[in-house]
Parts: sequence; structure tokens; C-alpha cells
Amino acid sequence: MSAYQSLKEEAYEANMQIPAQHLALYTWGNVSAFDKDKGVFAIKPSGVPYEKLAPDSMVVLDLEGNRVEGNLNPSSDTPTHIVLYKKFAVEGGAKIGGIIHTHSTAAVSWAQALKAVPLFGTTHADHIQTAVPCTPYLSKEMVERDYEKETGNAIVEHFAGLKLNPSEVTMVLVGGHGPFAWGSDAQKAVYNAAVLEEVCKMALNTLAINPGAQPLPDYIIKKHYERKHGPNAYYGQK
Ligand SMILES: [Zn+2]
Repeated sequence: MSAYQSLKEEAYEANMQIPAQHLALYTWGNVSAFDKDKGVFAIKPSGVPYEKLAPDSMVVLDLEGNRVEGNLNPSSDTPTHIVLYKKFAVEGGAKIGGIIHTHSTAAVSWAQALKAVPLFGTTHADHIQTAVPCTPYLSKEMVERDYEKETGNAIVEHFAGLKLNPSEVTMVLVGGHGPFAWGSDAQKAVYNAAVLEEVCKMALNTLAINPGAQPLPDYIIKKHYERKHGPNAYYGQK
């Protein structure tokens, strides 16, 4: 039995949620599950259809990109996952145990429009208290230097510029590309990606109905976020 069996199973189960939640077609999209104590993560292999995946086809790597277990090549987006784990989870102390990237339609549409998704309603406010950020396009130099790694750097720089905390803002759009999301584990990352897709659809419909729609007032945003998060949360069962 592998020392990383449970991590690989967590990554496998989360990857299988991508087609189940209709978050991507074909092999578009990938999830990784991170074990911060061991400094390793398990990620989907590159280009393998979801129906052919198994826990043992997950690839385990360290944060230097060395493969520590598995025979297949990891997802081509692996360097992006590494940058986010290093900068947000290890250096920044954010509680991130899973990252997902998809090409879900509504989120990609906002990313292609280079627009942050305005916080129009409580569905959005229940999860994050800001607009969903959208990075600019990567520069030509970034793309030619090390595209997937620089995609991670673009996210980190954008968060720093906007002073966003990745523990609180768990989703982002990469301009012209698509969404990344994360969470305390891989399953939570998938959940956040599904929330993001839904929020993107709702925002689009809102603007279709009223192009002049305004963001939700702060006092409602605060109320909704605090119902679910923080010391006085009261949503759900004790
Ligand atoms: Zn992509």
C-alpha cells in the first residue's frame, strides 16, 4: 500500500466530480489534493479521460515538481498548482488542501471578457465577500518564459495587488483562460468551482435583465458571510 494512498484517493474522487458536476468537457480540468505536512500533492495525469482514471493513476509530486509516485505524466497545469501551494499555503499560511482548474462555460466567459464578477447577491456573498477577481492577460514574456508557472504567478500578483486573502477569496479567473479555485481539501475546491460557475451564470443573467445592476449593499454582504463563516456563524446544524 502506498504511503500516499488516501491522498491519491482524495484527488481521484475530486477529479471524478469534474464531469459529474458538468464543470468541463473531455479532459479539460484537473484537481489536486495537497498534504502540507508531507509537502506533496496528488494530481490528475495529463490527457487521460475521466472514465479511464483510477486512484492509482494519480501522480504524486513534491513542491519542486519531482514525481515521487506514479508512472504517468502529471497534468500540464501542474506548475500552476505548485505556485499556488507554495505562495498561498506554505508561505502565506492559507489553509489550502486542494486546487481545481476547469473550463466551465460561464466562468470562462467572464475570464474571456476580462471582467471580475460583481457581487450582485447573497449566493455569492455566502462564499466570498468581494467580486471574483480576474487577472489581466499574461504578458508575452510570461507566456514564453514558463507559461503554466507564470499563470500561477499572475494569480499571486493579482491577489497581492488587490490585497486579497486567499483564505477568504477562494476563486479567481485568469484573463482569457478560465477559473481556478481552492479549498481546505480537494472536495471543497470542487465545491468552490461549482459555486463559482453558478455565481457567474447568475451575474450574467442579472446584467442581461438589468445592465445597470448594482453590487449588493455592504451590510447584506456582511450579514450573509457571517452567517456561515467566523465565530458567530449560525447556518446549519451545531
Ligand atoms: Zn486551462
